[in-house]
Amino acid sequence: MTQELKPHYDVVIIGAGLAGLALSTQLLKYAKKTILLVDKWDDPPRPTQKVGESLVQLSGYYFSKILDLEDYLMVNQYLKYNLRFYWQTGTGDDFWEDVSSSSIKSISNIATFQLDRNHIERHMMEKAKKDERFQFLGGVRDIVTNLSETDEPHTIAFNKGQTTCTWVVDCSGRGGVLKKKLGLEKESPIKHGSTWCWVEGLVNYEKFTDHTHTEVLMDRSRQLTGNFPFVNATSHFCGKGRWFWVIPLHGITSLGLVYEHASVDPTEVSSAKKMIDWVCKDWPMFARDLPNRKVVDEGRFISYSHDCKQTISKHRWAMAGESGRFTDPLYSPGSDLIAIYNTLVVDAILTDDKDLLEEKVAMAEQVERAMYEAYVPTYEVSYNALGDQETFTLKYTWELAIYFGFYVMPFINQLFTNRQYMQIFLRRFAIFGPINKSVQQFLGDYFAYKHENGIKGPSEPLNIEFYSIQPLKESETLFYQIGLTLEEAEDQTEKHVERMREFARYIYAHCYAAVLGDKRVLLNAAFVKSLKLKDTKFDPEMMKAHYEQFTQSEDIYDWNLNPFALEPFIGALVENTTAMPV
Ligand SMILES: Cc1cc2nc3c(=O)[nH]c(=O)nc-3n(C[C@H](O)[C@H](O)[C@H](O)COP(=O)(O)OP(=O)(O)OC[C@H]3O[C@@H](n4cnc5c(N)ncnc54)[C@H](O)[C@@H]3O)c2cc1C
Repeated sequence: MTQELKPHYDVVIIGAGLAGLALSTQLLKYAKKTILLVDKWDDPPRPTQKVGESLVQLSGYYFSKILDLEDYLMVNQYLKYNLRFYWQTGTGDDFWEDVSSSSIKSISNIATFQLDRNHIERHMMEKAKKDERFQFLGGVRDIVTNLSETDEPHTIAFNKGQTTCTWVVDCSGRGGVLKKKLGLEKESPIKHGSTWCWVEGLVNYEKFTDHTHTEVLMDRSRQLTGNFPFVNATSHFCGKGRWFWVIPLHGITSLGLVYEHASVDPTEVSSAKKMIDWVCKDWPMFARDLPNRKVVDEGRFISYSHDCKQTISKHRWAMAGESGRFTDPLYSPGSDLIAIYNTLVVDAILTDDKDLLEEKVAMAEQVERAMYEAYVPTYEVSYNALGDQETFTLKYTWELAIYFGFYVMPFINQLFTNRQYMQIFLRRFAIFGPINKSVQQFLGDYFAYKHENGIKGPSEPLNIEFYSIQPLKESETLFYQIGLTLEEAEDQTEKHVERMREFARYIYAHCYAAVLGDKRVLLNAAFVKSLKLKDTKFDPEMMKAHYEQFTQSEDIYDWNLNPFALEPFIGALVENTTAMPV
């Protein structure tokens, strides 16, 4: 049946994926606008399974609270149990014998979910279709947009007709309809690939063991890790510059290998079968299970990251989701960026005043770019650190604390659209650019040093609680800072900046202590104060000479954190290598 198009819509959205449907849901809830959503497929999502399942706090909050889908999520999707990271300590054949972990044992107070993407997209589509302001048109090809730079509306034409609209938002994912039309493509410095698949049933790696059921239940490591089903986490089985994900969905399990090209040859993992074989060699415990599973679907990108020169314009067009920028799936920022971009796009669509719109759009572009760019060093510079529990624990707790304070706290206080706050925020956030780059380079080099010198992690499984790192634990308290006034939010941001400065100091000091095999390094006030947060290089000889200047100093540094949180690693490095004199 051919559908009648209206002569004009307030908003035309191209692409009915996660971004386009979330934007439709948000607009229907918060703005009285008419929407035409178009997609190249007749009835998306197609039966093929969609990748991009794990939500973290910001996107968890967005889908459950802002889009008000909490009831749906609680009933239809798995509640997620944080992110868990694993390393092999022995042969990697038995989960309860050979595996070290770093994780958070308590469940997040901001609910996060493992999304069956096809299920939630179908739900949002059905819900939107019940609203008379919304119209969906499938099977749309050959889209031609004629973007207006005056008060006149845009025109948009395709195989099934044409119409006009006030705003066009491109959510066509990798189709990149507007990006291509406007020549806004930009290369990303991140060169990583991924092969993934879905297999039937639940891959519960807690069962990959020769231990009896009772032994597993009574394992003393549970004193640290507890009893929540580990498999409900996004589980990361790590190695140098790579990780293998296990994500449970109802009736199927999502599995994927993500890698930097320097660590895994893409041709060796060019299909689900090859990827599973590769993983079973890398992590032998998976050979107990995966070769017997039926693969229900699969996918692959050799290089998935991309940037964009501009994603929103005063001339009433915007992009959201993968049609604009995409960095990396590690820590699942994809849906977070959808949440942030959609929120800024809705705010712009709700702004009629032209001057105000121009100011808002300029700020939105800055925020969108800053949110994206802050992630780049995380993926570009120190991805190798995935290969070592100590280095990665420092990296992740640092990044997660930044995330809780600079992403989650402003988002749950609805401050991303508050320009006054955002101006201060961007200044504060900018302080972190150089510090973050320096920390990431330092940790990447620290890992390379350990790797080149054959320094292995602990020979017995070690379970690290991320919240034993105090700045991260304190950052989590920001989840409860809700309904803040502007002054209160600024105050929290200021405190967070100070917290993170101390955290950077601790990361450097810990690595010095580990390299020099001397815990006193961590208490030496004169030395700790001498560390330059934006410019500390990892070079063992230089580090030794630097510390030697302060060995006579007796003042104790007054930390607000426990400097011995990662004590098991101090000394181990010197015991393990002949490369460094004590
Ligand atoms: C390996 C990998 C793992 C990931 N894991 C996670 C994760 O755990 N958590 C997370 O949050 N994110 C993750 N992501 C990111 C996540 O997949 C994306 O953020 C998300 O899928 C983007 O949704 P979207 O709506 O922009 O694109 P899509 O879902 O791809 O939707 C685009 C829509 O546009 C339509 N379309 C395309 N071209 C045209 C055209 N020319 N005309 C009309 N319609 C068109 C398509 O049919 C489709 O319906 C991952 C990404 C990768 C690569």
